[in-house]
Amino acid sequence: MRYLSTRGEPAALAFDDVLLAGLARDGGLYVPETWPQFSAAEWRGLRGKRYHEIAFAVLKPYVGGAIPDADLARLTREAYANFTHQAVAPLKQLDANLWTLELFHGPTLAFKDYALQLVGKLFDYVLAKKGQRITIVGATSGDTGPAGIAAVAGSQHIDIVVLHPNGRTSPVQRRQMTTVLDPNVHNVALEGTFDDCQDLVKALFGDLEFRDRYRLSAINSINWARIAGQIVYYVHAALALGAPDRPVSFCVPTGNFGNVLAADAARRMGLPIERLVVATNRNDIVARTILTGTMALESVAPTITPSMDIQVSSNFERLVFELAGRDGRATAAMMTEFRQSGKLAFPQGMKGALADGFDAGAASEADTLNTIAKMRLTTGEIVDPHTAVAIHVAQRAKSDAPIVVASTAHPAKFPDAVEKATGIRPALPDFLADLFEREERVDILPNDAATLKKYVAAHAKAQ
Ligand SMILES: *Cc1c(COP(=O)(O)O)cnc(C)c1O
Repeated sequence: MRYLSTRGEPAALAFDDVLLAGLARDGGLYVPETWPQFSAAEWRGLRGKRYHEIAFAVLKPYVGGAIPDADLARLTREAYANFTHQAVAPLKQLDANLWTLELFHGPTLAFKDYALQLVGKLFDYVLAKKGQRITIVGATSGDTGPAGIAAVAGSQHIDIVVLHPNGRTSPVQRRQMTTVLDPNVHNVALEGTFDDCQDLVKALFGDLEFRDRYRLSAINSINWARIAGQIVYYVHAALALGAPDRPVSFCVPTGNFGNVLAADAARRMGLPIERLVVATNRNDIVARTILTGTMALESVAPTITPSMDIQVSSNFERLVFELAGRDGRATAAMMTEFRQSGKLAFPQGMKGALADGFDAGAASEADTLNTIAKMRLTTGEIVDPHTAVAIHVAQRAKSDAPIVVASTAHPAKFPDAVEKATGIRPALPDFLADLFEREERVDILPNDAATLKKYVAAHAKAQ
């Protein structure tokens, strides 16, 4: 298996190089040259298998020989060994035709663990083999930072520097980062906003000499390996509900479009998915794009679902590439037009394909709180606000098949919203019960690129 850039860069890379590169050199995102196909018999053969066995089977064609099978099997086994539910990603029934797929049984209680626990192991394996070191630099407003740190803490081949806006993440999220005391983990509380954090990270990546010297790398969902790791739980859930002999639908709370893109990939591999429903909060650029065929930028309003408060969904480019008939030049032209004008009206054919492939809806803050309260009353379940956004949208979606909502975070990660809706403050699981007694380590830095560069230079061992 080789990988192409969505902007047409011809140099086709193998999986291990795509893993380390993150973003393509022409500014595009990597996508597989072809979509692996599974027959109905092959899907059936995976029914009843353990999560890590399904992970191995799904990832094998994407890895495409870049990692020997025996090693890939071991890495997938190890990646999910410490998840706290023995089904890893269990389904729970909420109504006759409505289910949640619980993706919060990993070490940091959000779905990002499902791909990142594996990606951390893949990084270590590939770097050890190549005898290289890298420096991961990232910005977080909440869930990516903790999951990324948990994935690479203690690695001999990676330093990780994570910027969060000082005083602006939830105490649980901050402590999930700052209480990890491994020497390769470097937490920066930046005196600024999340956008400031992101701009500084971009500035570091934009300095090519600096980037090469410290071998900077990223772990956000522009990295193809993260999408590949997320395909697994859609397959696992669909098989449990009767696929390939019965189709299922999925509804996914969406920000950067990485999670729902993985469901789309599962569909392209032949998994029978009836409807794919994109759920957003009031920052609804993706839902509007699907419903109207025009992508138009608006300002971002903060919500009780902060992991979905985004302006531009970076992964949407991968879908644009598919809708444009995998034409890299056309994709590059459209993305440039959007960057420049803040608006992009898709041509008629692409508009139709988008509407055929996806449904979409948005939830207001009141919808979200009401849904949390209603779920508590009608099912006894306490759901986090991101999950509630998707339940609200799923309940209004048309689907004959069972509809599965991706439950992307544990309610204890967002206790204030849950308490407001239900009067109950959800408790952290036992293994995090002492989070607020643990020692923290964090460096407070001013919002200044030169200072951050000095900081990275002082801490990164890759050079
Ligand atoms: C990251 C995140 C999302 C959004 O996922 P995308 O892949 O960015 O669309 C939704 N819910 C939670 C809890 C998250 O952490």
